Amino acid sequence: MTTAQGPWRSTILTLYPEMFPGPLGLSLSGDALARRVWSLETRNIRDQGIGRHRSVDDTPAGGGAGMVLRCDVLAAAIDAATASDDPRPRLLMSPRGRPLTQARVRALAAGPGLVVVCGRFEGVDERVIAGRGLEEVSIGDYVLSGGEVAALVLLDSCVRLLPGVMGKVASGEDESFEGNRLEYPHYTRPRDWEGRAIPDVLNSGNHAAVARWRRAEALRITAERRPDLLAPGETDPAA
Ligand code: SAH
Repeated sequence: MTTAQGPWRSTILTLYPEMFPGPLGLSLSGDALARRVWSLETRNIRDQGIGRHRSVDDTPAGGGAGMVLRCDVLAAAIDAATASDDPRPRLLMSPRGRPLTQARVRALAAGPGLVVVCGRFEGVDERVIAGRGLEEVSIGDYVLSGGEVAALVLLDSCVRLLPGVMGKVASGEDESFEGNRLEYPHYTRPRDWEGRAIPDVLNSGNHAAVARWRRAEALRITAERRPDLLAPGETDPAA
């Protein structure tokens, strides 16, 4: 489904365009890509590289290990990929960024799309971040070898929320992180398996009781595993 404003547009700046769409070319996101619910454009940063070798990196000022992506090369790549009136947020995948949340994913999925810069090496020259208005986004407190896998995570989380990608499930109101809760447990057939039965209430046909049980379980699991998600005073599942 293409909305009135056209598809949700993503542009990825990377040294490894072959990594895209990768896993996003399969399953729900791949079908949606084929149906033009969203679009994916990759730009090789090396196209703006310098000299015969199309060099994109250089040694860190002040010394130290590794290499740094040049600000002039990256800025040229961003400028070549985006018009000055491009309304899309420009993100830089970065372990220093604000950690990605489901709330942020929802906001990004509701917008026109994304321009995503994938870092490599030790990272990018700091000046291009301010110079091109890049917002740093992290997918978690660990270090990847490059921004591409992080960009795939970000895109996957956005694309599944686009209208028409997941069908009815997409409303996702019961899902983890909606309403600051982790999700309740799921079960399906067989009813008894290796001495473990599906909780009786789920077979009762009593929808109100099922809903109550699911709310209580979601709260119990969240309090146990991720009390940081709960508001103060919400921590006691018995409450
Ligand atoms: N020296 C940097 C890490 C560079 S890792 C530091 O210590 O902060 C190389 C690239 O991988 C980064 O520029 C970034 O684009 C990407 N990357 C690594 N970990 C990431 C994470 N947790 N979230 C998002 N991007 C990440």
